[in-house]
Amino acid sequence: MTDANEKSGQAEKCNAPNLAQGRDILRLLDEAANERAAGAARMQCRVCWYIYDPEEGCPAWDIEPGTPFSALPEEFTCPDCGQPKSAFLPAED
Ligand SMILES: [Zn+2]
Repeated sequence: MTDANEKSGQAEKCNAPNLAQGRDILRLLDEAANERAAGAARMQCRVCWYIYDPEEGCPAWDIEPGTPFSALPEEFTCPDCGQPKSAFLPAED
């Protein structure tokens, strides 16, 4: 009985690093999703590749630095090519 308990304990120890890694990846994915939801993500026009950076805002539209993409007015269009907000996709880093 004691031997069996020790063996199962060792098996758990062996698996622990893998489980922790899996949880870390899920946590990182969660954080990335939360950042997108909070509007911290840069958004890129899929037509001309203009990037809207919330940290910089958009001078052409009098958008203050620190304004998330989700807070832009509905009439906002790409300052370079005139595409609507729906043409923007999350920018890859
Ligand atoms: Zn554009």
